[in-house]
Amino acid sequence: MKELEKVKVFLFDLDGTVYLGGNLIGDVKNTLNKIRAKGVKVGFLTNNSSTTKESYFAKLKNLGVFFDGDFFYSSLDCATDYLLDKNREGKIFTLATEKVKEHVKSRGLNVVDDENSANVFLLTFDKELTYEKLVKANRLLGKKDVLYIATHPDSVCPTENGSIPDVGSFIELLSHSSGRRPDVITGKPYGVLAEYIIKKLGVKSDEICMVGDRLYTDIAFGENSGMKTVLVLSGETKEEDLKSSTVSPTLVLPDVNYIQV
Ligand SMILES: [Mg+2]
Repeated sequence: MKELEKVKVFLFDLDGTVYLGGNLIGDVKNTLNKIRAKGVKVGFLTNNSSTTKESYFAKLKNLGVFFDGDFFYSSLDCATDYLLDKNREGKIFTLATEKVKEHVKSRGLNVVDDENSANVFLLTFDKELTYEKLVKANRLLGKKDVLYIATHPDSVCPTENGSIPDVGSFIELLSHSSGRRPDVITGKPYGVLAEYIIKKLGVKSDEICMVGDRLYTDIAFGENSGMKTVLVLSGETKEEDLKSSTVSPTLVLPDVNYIQV
């Protein structure tokens, strides 16, 4: 495909792009192998911060789509990198699963359970959310000079059994209760994520192609940061959604298996 000739790295979204729930979309394994065989790097980029890099490696390897030399990055990785760079000493109260909380600690960040001693609020896709945690988060956001970081803006996450509330919905809830919105969002479509990825990959932005199923995160992310973009219609977006969209993908394909390099 002429539009993809200069691409050195393909970044694939996961949910709705590589798989739906536990099922791969068509012969993705073969498609990725063909890309690797051409010397083009394969990468995975997810906004889903409900689990850690290690869990994703295990899942992707188990599905047969992740190999040594592939790239992986998530909105959670970006949030922890950002905090290590800009607020290493911060005392972080987080809405996160226990696994993610331990992961953030293992990166050398100071996670506290008492919101009264915190000066950073990190909002991730906490699938173990309780009312008590929401009360603590709300109390913290009522304090002055608290840095508020959210991992991503997605309102819902697709699953085999329909959509479930995601961080974008938590942001709205906390906005109503506290009046605060995030200072920084580290997932697609925001620029801070592109900065880290471009630095890590060591290529120019127009040598990267973002492949995803969502216009307002995946495609907007690629477009905002000067990457090529491929919208796949295997997930959330339907062809008619393009008519009212302000973002315009480089290519629109039925699914990832139509990519040719
Ligand atoms: Mg997706």
